[in-house]
Amino acid sequence: MSVDETTTPSFDELPLRQELLAELASLGYEEPTPIQCEAIPHLVEGRDVLGQAATGTGKTAAFALPLLQRLAPGDRGRQPSALVLVPTRELAMQVSQAIHRYGRTLGARVLPIYGGQPIGRQLKELGRGVDVVVATPGRALDHLGRGTLVLDDVEVVVLDEADEMLDMGFQEDLEAILEEAPATRQTVLFSATMPRHIEKLARAHLTDPVRISIGREAAVPGSAEGPRIRQTAYVVARPHKPAALGRILDVEAPGSTIVFCGTRNEVDELTETMNGRGYRAEALHGGMSQEQRDRVMDRLRNETADLLVATDVAARGLDIEHLTHVVNYDVPSAPEAYTHRIGRVGRAGREGVAITLVEPRQHRLLKAIERHTGQKMEVARIPTVADLRARRFELTRAALREELLGDDLEQFRVVVDTLSDEFDLVEVALAAVKLAHDAIGGDVEEEEELPQMSLAPDDRDRGGRAGRTGGRRPPRGQAGGDTARVFIGLGRGAGIRPKDLVGAIANEAGVRGRDIGAIQITQNFSLVEVPAGQVDQVVAALRDTTVKGRRATVRRDRHEG
Ligand code: AMP
Repeated sequence: MSVDETTTPSFDELPLRQELLAELASLGYEEPTPIQCEAIPHLVEGRDVLGQAATGTGKTAAFALPLLQRLAPGDRGRQPSALVLVPTRELAMQVSQAIHRYGRTLGARVLPIYGGQPIGRQLKELGRGVDVVVATPGRALDHLGRGTLVLDDVEVVVLDEADEMLDMGFQEDLEAILEEAPATRQTVLFSATMPRHIEKLARAHLTDPVRISIGREAAVPGSAEGPRIRQTAYVVARPHKPAALGRILDVEAPGSTIVFCGTRNEVDELTETMNGRGYRAEALHGGMSQEQRDRVMDRLRNETADLLVATDVAARGLDIEHLTHVVNYDVPSAPEAYTHRIGRVGRAGREGVAITLVEPRQHRLLKAIERHTGQKMEVARIPTVADLRARRFELTRAALREELLGDDLEQFRVVVDTLSDEFDLVEVALAAVKLAHDAIGGDVEEEEELPQMSLAPDDRDRGGRAGRTGGRRPPRGQAGGDTARVFIGLGRGAGIRPKDLVGAIANEAGVRGRDIGAIQITQNFSLVEVPAGQVDQVVAALRDTTVKGRRATVRRDRHEG
């Protein structure tokens, strides 16, 4: 085994409290991501930070850990000491869950407040006292107006996904909220892109910020001459990842494969899932003893295991021969980690395969990787049930062919002979094939169709967005792109407002807020215009989720025009 030269500091080397380190360990995080390495020391020191980082880089923990670090021990006041502003209600819930989780041992009181939830419950929680409020700008302003949210004790304000907030027309709300927070506060701004209006916002509200940018590295020199690796990405929503990976591997039929996961817990869960699917999968992570790890490596080497499911840390320095496939179950948080991972295949002149599962909102990470490798990744369709059936028939046919070429079939002749009195020989063969097919696990009865998603379009950087402070943009249709309408069986009667729909579509289907066109809300249903190319993924995603806590009939609107 050779040890790699990569030197990432461990969490222990970051200036974080013991309680936080313990939570990170229990979550199975093995090492900080680049944005965490860079931002956390400055934030703990109290500096303002202007960070360019996309979803999937670990930015939430990068700002959450330092603000939790500040929480005083013992009894704390009723007013929040930190305010995190996010564009949508889904993100508010997600970020607040993350902060709650990281701050569990510290007893952090974290409250999400967003439009669409009854204000009464939020009032009660605010009255009880909170440490961290995670809010959408509109609702935060609402509470400030009522005097139910007081920012006098706020030490840190975080603007998360600031470009998205400005795109949704929250500029004035943000300005008004920042006015209310003490001038001595620390301000942190994260944005996936840094257009001029974000720079302007930062200049106005951040003090001498440290600038951090992730994913802007120069391309790897000479990567085009590097090993031959077929790189394919599949767009999958998080909940479908285990099923999608199973499906992809069934069709790919890889040899020895290593699957990289982000955390120890993910490694354990996925190993179990893949074993359930008939793979001989072994887990490898930093929480295992050397002896356990050696045993796993032996099984892989002597081919009694076909999948190694590992974290980056555990796989570091392993030199495994004969790997055919590398799978990124998560898009690595930095492009360097990607090249490092896939560099394990395509050795000695053999072609290697790198498979990456990417969530719709992670398109920027994927772009950063492509810039880094100088190669485009092919985005492939997740195999359908029909693809899988075809593949399994192929396997059954191959297995039967093998038997036919063998020479110990004679003993079964008596069975065929007796049956042939009653049935046609082809029918007998069909029944035997069915038995064989089912016996080798060829049945696809239990398989469900997985929604085909596409990457959120990356047209944000193309400019032409000056001075918008409120209201919706003209629908894309008017700007020339094809649109289609989605019918959602919830309307005013269910308390649906345009931003509920924008939030749900943007978050669940990965469609940019600005790509959502005209919204029509009637008493009983709503119609939303979305880019035609994304209509199927919007329908699939909305069927899978709730809007304002309710499930709705969702379909492509048939009466378009
Ligand atoms: P974010 O970019 O904040 O949306 O985070 C993306 C995902 O990475 C989340 O699911 C986090 O739980 C996870 N994550 C964040 N930091 C780490 C880390 N150091 N190691 C492993 N997973 C992480």
